[in-house]
Amino acid sequence: MHPHGREQTLLPPDGQGGGRRPDSTGLMCPYCEAVVSNPNASQCDSCLRPLPGQGAPTLRVLFPTGELKLASGQSLVLGRDAGQSPVAATFTPYDNVSRRHSTVWLDQQGTAWVRDEGSTNGTFVNGERLPPRVDAPLRDGDQLRLAADVAGTVSLG
Ligand SMILES: [Zn+2]
Repeated sequence: MHPHGREQTLLPPDGQGGGRRPDSTGLMCPYCEAVVSNPNASQCDSCLRPLPGQGAPTLRVLFPTGELKLASGQSLVLGRDAGQSPVAATFTPYDNVSRRHSTVWLDQQGTAWVRDEGSTNGTFVNGERLPPRVDAPLRDGDQLRLAADVAGTVSLG
């Protein structure tokens, strides 16, 4: 009575777009900047270098309103302006977060960094306000806070 029940479980959870045509929102090779069409590939098919994936360092920041996740070589602008921050939805509930508040990134060596982008209400690591536009390292377990009350936990591994 359920002829399609088994096939449905084989569909990838986020399979949209067919995966054939290179897409500007896809994963980019951190070495040669070629677009990697298969996000699960372990190797770049342009420069043949290993790509970040399972076992590679990953930076996560868990906020009450969402989790940010970055592979090495990736950076992310945090802020309330959807035109500047791809994760603006995480911060729209908070009026005191700036439109472009801070940037977090994970470098090729697996070190995580944060930089305040001249925000009005400040970026804090473990309660200490960062000077604007200065790179500050993030460590596993650090608390990253934007303005007074948007606190996230850094997970590096
Ligand atoms: Zn490459």
